[in-house]
Amino acid sequence: MAKVKLLRVTEEGINLVAESARVSGVPLAQSTREIIDLITDNDYSSALEHIYFTFDVTGISVALSRELLEHRIASHTARSTRYMEEKGFGYYVPEELERKGNDETAEIYSDAMKDANEAYTKLRELGVAREQARYVLPLALHTHYVVTMNVRSLINFFMLRLCVRASPEIRELAMRMYKICLEEYADIFSKIWCRGFTLGVCPENEVRPIECPFKKILPKKRDIKDAFEEQARRIIEKELKTF
Ligand SMILES: Cc1cc2nc3c(=O)[nH]c(=O)nc-3n(C[C@H](O)[C@H](O)[C@H](O)COP(=O)(O)OP(=O)(O)OC[C@H]3O[C@@H](n4cnc5c(N)ncnc54)[C@H](O)[C@@H]3O)c2cc1C
Repeated sequence: MAKVKLLRVTEEGINLVAESARVSGVPLAQSTREIIDLITDNDYSSALEHIYFTFDVTGISVALSRELLEHRIASHTARSTRYMEEKGFGYYVPEELERKGNDETAEIYSDAMKDANEAYTKLRELGVAREQARYVLPLALHTHYVVTMNVRSLINFFMLRLCVRASPEIRELAMRMYKICLEEYADIFSKIWCRGFTLGVCPENEVRPIECPFKKILPKKRDIKDAFEEQARRIIEKELKTF
């Protein structure tokens, strides 16, 4: 199971965001609370980039770390399989397999991990360097990760990864990170969840699965757009003719 520890967070971040927004021209008379509401409700998100979170993450698979690395607006540091020993490694077990207990699929999975560990250990004992032996290690291999993200990027991360369509392991990690963010900056993060909740329409359209808890109450982006698209296109054509 993933463990997430908050290593650092920008202190007094709400005041920092409000101060920087005032520099950009937000009326001085507006309270800090009003500014935060304006920024989060209207997506004036660049001021949120002044707040940073650094998380220490353990017990995640290399497969998940690859998904995490796809979030480019972040700073990433991962445990090295080149410089660290992986004999007797820990590994991720998908919840579905864990629930099934000792049946055939769980056995095939754990045998594959044992085989990989044996192959790695033998190669190391025969004098093979870590940087070569590591290629027999599985995607399930546990890794250790430190990631730093600003709040704007975290919001994007949560919108994508709290969605039920995200892979279960990264969704679990996103939940744990979200809880920490909510504790630190509730005024911002209480307005954020998956893309559907945050935007008020779900861009997943027809691929929304049955497990989506908002399926019955959140409209699909396609439906909203269908209702005005033709009329809006005529307006755009008219606009273009004016230039
Ligand atoms: C359900 C799901 C399924 C996925 N399936 C796949 C898959 O099959 N294959 C796959 O490769 N990935 C897949 N991904 C990963 C996805 O495509 C993104 O790479 C990942 O979610 C990171 O999102 P991001 O680019 O918004 O984040 P970041 O990289 O942190 O970027 C944040 C934002 O910055 C802007 N930005 C960043 N870089 C650029 C750039 N070069 N040019 C222009 N704008 C930029 C964009 O607005 C972007 O949204 C999947 C993600 C999800 C949630």
